[in-house]
Amino acid sequence: MDNNIATIYTAQKGRKELSYNDRISVLEALEERIKDLEPRIVDALKADLRKPRFESFLSEIDFCLHEIKTVKKKLKKWMKPRRVCSPLPFMPAKSRIHFEPYGQVLVIAPWNYPFQLAIVPLIGAIAAGNKVILKPSEVAPNTSSILNELISSALDSEIAAVVEGGVDETTELLNLKFDYIFYTGNGHVGRIIMAAAAKNLTPLTLELGGKSPAIVGTKNLDLAAKRIVWGKFFNAGQTCVAPDYVLLRKEDQDEFINSAKKYLVQFYGDNVKNSPDYGRIINERHFDRLNALVKKDDVLIGGDVDKSDLYISPTFIKANESSEIMQDEIFGPILPLVNIDNLDEAIAYVKRHDKPLACYAFLDKTSEKNRVINEISSGGMVINDTIIHLSNDQLPFGGVGESGMGAYHGKHSFELFSHRKSVMNRAFFLENDLRYPPYSKKESFIRKLMNLIS
Ligand code: NAD
Repeated sequence: MDNNIATIYTAQKGRKELSYNDRISVLEALEERIKDLEPRIVDALKADLRKPRFESFLSEIDFCLHEIKTVKKKLKKWMKPRRVCSPLPFMPAKSRIHFEPYGQVLVIAPWNYPFQLAIVPLIGAIAAGNKVILKPSEVAPNTSSILNELISSALDSEIAAVVEGGVDETTELLNLKFDYIFYTGNGHVGRIIMAAAAKNLTPLTLELGGKSPAIVGTKNLDLAAKRIVWGKFFNAGQTCVAPDYVLLRKEDQDEFINSAKKYLVQFYGDNVKNSPDYGRIINERHFDRLNALVKKDDVLIGGDVDKSDLYISPTFIKANESSEIMQDEIFGPILPLVNIDNLDEAIAYVKRHDKPLACYAFLDKTSEKNRVINEISSGGMVINDTIIHLSNDQLPFGGVGESGMGAYHGKHSFELFSHRKSVMNRAFFLENDLRYPPYSKKESFIRKLMNLIS
């Protein structure tokens, strides 16, 4: 085993879980160091993904700082044991739910929001009093390196440490017994993680992806197009909750496309490639995968590529259910439009496929919105907009079915990384002998009593 991994793992195991004061001081140290390193974090994200400064600030750095702020404000309240009622026959007693740290948590992060998706789970795990080993994605090496520098300079490795590396290092980590595993990435690797966790009965969260639909049935096609263009091309489409495809009526398509063209120019100018606000594909492997999905004859907008610059322009293509592009999550700046005749067909289409991480529906009538909310199962949902639900830390963020299990952000992270221990605290006075043998003659009385109190 790698010495470094063994040393950190053993040292963390020997350290006791974090008190309230420990947690706050760890988070304050992290906050301060993130602020110090902000320009270099922005540079690392630029080097890995050509991420625009504004997107880096909004969706990576400020996202983490906001999460720390919320925890600092609310943690005392969250940590208080929650009082619940006790059953009458066992009175006097106090029943409480205590939030207990699991112990040692392994966080495995992906490359698309390589900073935020490493730090936000770490904040949640620390808030709940755990010690953490963080494995950033090797696919975003500059961010992986700055994460290592950030954590090692801000925090004691007995509390939190970074292990950089790829499959070998992750496999080594997975051979160790952790108390909780938090994984973000694709479902194929998710299955490997879950199988490894099963060996030690380690509880886990899987934050996966999928094909998130955008159903467009509104008369306000212009605003729907604007919000879809923004949500799709943020981070060049490499967002787990980006709208993957659009379902719309054939008669609405031209107007939708014209609006999309207008907003692409408004957002990125006449030459998207020169825009400082448009990102790049993470690497050549993903570039080739995406490039192969675009068939020239199907292109409605865009289709321009430059491999030397890992550039794929915002691209709209026409597709149908059996098109190659409709089989797997796209995870890039290509948006297929699939024609449907009505909302029934759109709902049926989505339900025929795996439960997505997000579902977006642009509709005018309340009855139609309610149908989508009640009939479609997805990790999260936004009516009349895209991707913004993950910025609301009051809402649990996570998938369902193929898009994952478990959810976090804000208080939900604290609860996710805590074991809810049931504690019933009895008094020694007022002893009631009804439950003790000999049972003869007690049963009919107990039945009557139960009927009365239930
Ligand atoms: P990735 O390639 O960076 O892999 C994720 C992590 O898994 C990395 O740390 C990597 O080292 C590790 N890994 C890869 N292969 C492994 C193996 N064989 N054994 C053990 N560990 C291994 O990222 P990715 O999977 O390409 O990420 C993209 C996917 O993640 C998309 O499907 C996307 O939708 C999903 N995603 C989901 C969320 C969410 O919050 N639900 C967020 C971002 C991305």
